[in-house]
Parts: sequence; C-alpha cells; structure tokens
Amino acid sequence: MRVGIFGGTFDPVHQGHMIVAEQVMTELDLAQVVFVPGGIPPHKEASSVRATAPDRLAMVEAAVEGNERFSVDRVEIDAGRPMHSVETVSILRERSPDDEWFFITGADEVSNLLAWREPDRLLEQVVMVAATRPGYDLSRLDHLEAALRNFDRIFPVECTRVDISATAIRRKMLQRKSIRYLVPEGVREIIENRGLYRGDGSRAEGGLVKEEIL
Ligand code: ATP
Repeated sequence: MRVGIFGGTFDPVHQGHMIVAEQVMTELDLAQVVFVPGGIPPHKEASSVRATAPDRLAMVEAAVEGNERFSVDRVEIDAGRPMHSVETVSILRERSPDDEWFFITGADEVSNLLAWREPDRLLEQVVMVAATRPGYDLSRLDHLEAALRNFDRIFPVECTRVDISATAIRRKMLQRKSIRYLVPEGVREIIENRGLYRGDGSRAEGGLVKEEIL
C-alpha cells in the first residue's frame, strides 16, 4: 500500500493543506494520507496566539472527518516535543514496514532540505513529494542534486495554487475578520468555540489544557 505522511504545525490546519493532501493522494495513487501534527516546545503551549497541541490535534481531526482516506497520527503530539522528520518517519514505517511511504511537503521546504536532520537517510525511507504551485521554478531544487545521494527520491507534484497560510488565518482572527471557507467548517467551529487565536489569552470554557492529553 502507498501511504502519504503530511507533517506540519497545523496552527491551524487550513484548506491549502487539505487541497495539497487530496491532490497528491490522487496524483500518486496513495491509499491513505496520514496527517502528523507536530509537537511544539512546552514553553509555547501557554502562548495565547498559538494553539496548544490538543487544540491543533482536535482541529486536524475535525478537518479529516468524512474522508476515509485521511487520518491523523499523534506520534509527535504524544512525544510532546518537536521531532525531526527522519525520526517520525522511522516510527511510522516500523509499524507497517511493507507499505511504501511518501512524505508530503511544500516545495519551498524541500529546497531547504540540506538544513534538515539526515536528509539522505530520510530519502532512503520515503519518497519526498515536493508540492509545487503552477509556475514553480523547479531549478530551485537543483542545488540538492550535487549534495544528496538520493536526490532522485524527490518527486515534484503540481498542486492548485491556494494562497492560504496559517499565519494569515491567525492574523485574521486577531483582526476579528472572517475565516469561513479558508478552513474546513469543523476547524472554524473549534477556533470559534475555544476562542483560539484571539490574542487576548481568552479561552472558551471546556477547552482542553496541555496536561489532559500530553
Ligand atoms: P505558517 O503560516 O504558520 O508558517 P503554514 O500555513 O505554512 O503555516 P504548516 O503547518 O507549517 O502551515 O505547513 C505544513 C505543510 O503544508 C508545509 O510543508 C507547507 O509548505 C505546506 N503548505 C502550507 N500551506 C500551503 C498552501 N497554501 N499550499 C501548499 N502547501 C502548503
């Protein structure tokens, strides 16, 4: 089975992520895409402008609901710390070593691959899918060819250009602007109900706190 791993901070997950996951999945005939929200350093958990790990996890779970080929893995959330992709991938592959693994990332992040931990070992374990936008200049990946033994394991996939970022969503929340349709509806409900990204530190009653899940 071909399985995609889609890692990110997902703070919050948005329609740009969902469209990349869907288009890469169909383009590469993946059976599943596993979203892996990342752990963030404990000192950031208390911040009022960035969501806690449990909130980010709940948002990704809401986002994948209704798509039986999407799922969420909490390996990094449970670790409670940022993990290098090479480490995350090793853990996921150990669980089902017969699957063929694809690691989905924005092309700009792939162009920065030399700064990642053990990029060649990562490429031994996964095919790196560089999600590009139409018109993306693939020569921006050229410098990797000389530096990486497994450069041929990087595979660009062109996705529809969707100019949404988590940063822009957080900014809109701070400015009390609408984020409807920029994020899946279930994600918007969690953001509104839990009072996320308002910047005033206010949180709706019943919001999970770090200790309840980590
Ligand atoms: P931030 O604005 O906080 O930096 P982000 O929107 O880039 O966040 P991440 O969780 O950091 O979200 O992204 C996870 C992955 O999704 C990364 O590989 C990133 O390149 C990719 N990605 C994010 N937004 C888009 C988008 N609109 N189109 C294509 N890929 C995207």
